[in-house]
Amino acid sequence: MPRPPGLPKLPRMNPPRGNLFIVSAPSGGGKTSLTRAVLARLSERGQEAAISVSYTTRAPRPGEEDGVHYHFVDEARFLDMIGRAELLEHAHVFGRRYGTGRDKTEELLARGVDLMLDIDWQGAQQVRKLLPEARSVFILPPSSEELERRLRGRGQDDDATIQKRMAAAKAEMSHYAEYDFLIVNEDFERALEELTALFLAPRLARGSQASRHAGLIDALLV
Ligand code: GDP
Ligand code: ADP
Ligand code: 5GP
Repeated sequence: MPRPPGLPKLPRMNPPRGNLFIVSAPSGGGKTSLTRAVLARLSERGQEAAISVSYTTRAPRPGEEDGVHYHFVDEARFLDMIGRAELLEHAHVFGRRYGTGRDKTEELLARGVDLMLDIDWQGAQQVRKLLPEARSVFILPPSSEELERRLRGRGQDDDATIQKRMAAAKAEMSHYAEYDFLIVNEDFERALEELTALFLAPRLARGSQASRHAGLIDALLV
């Protein structure tokens, strides 16, 4: 059958630009474990995805590796990066600085990689302004008691730090309404399924699929 008149020839611009996701949660909410598990799921499906590696001035925790969990930098280097506009966003969290590299973010999205930014509400506000196409999701714990239990269970922070993080949790959670999606992390598997679904859905948008499968669609309509 001839291609119906009026249907534009599909552009072959593979791959489409990657989707950008902002993921926030109070400390201990499960952001790190959930985003890592989502990444593993997406990789199994052959979907190109990544978690942005932030810059921070805080000290590495036991087991954290430079360049993997964070780029650990000193205050002077961080200020230098701000001065050179090398950060897409940056914020003070728990008295330390955190920021997202600008060039790496752009490079990954341009290559078609879906990118997760594990950032706080202040960073989320900045990224939304700069990149309004970003989707944002907030992860809530099932209760304050459970949040504290998970923070302690992680065994990475001393008592004073846990008290500080619990106090900060309420402030972080008060920004939930600024996010497009909310996930309650009660049952881990369920939360993982929900977060994965958010990453899969935009890939199925017609524009995205049509450019990815331009050859197939052309062939089907011949
Ligand atoms: P967590 O509470 O165990 O996740 O501890 P982290 O040290 O990993 O993160 C501390 C805080 O910094 C969290 O609120 C993160 O969302 C936030 N954060 C991490 N990376 C970034 C970033 O690149 N930019 C911004 N704005 N916030 C970040
Ligand atoms: P965040 O990065 O938001 O600070 P983590 O991913 O480090 O949070 O999770 C905090 C702790 O809670 C970790 O020890 C993690 O294994 C645990 N945790 C996360 N989600 C759940 C869940 N649904 N049920 C039980 N424990 C969880
Ligand atoms: P932690 O020190 O426990 O790893 O992280 C504490 C908080 O900092 C978390 O809420 C995390 O989301 C936030 N955070 C980590 N990296 C960044 C970042 O690059 N930018 C911003 N704005 N916040 C970050």
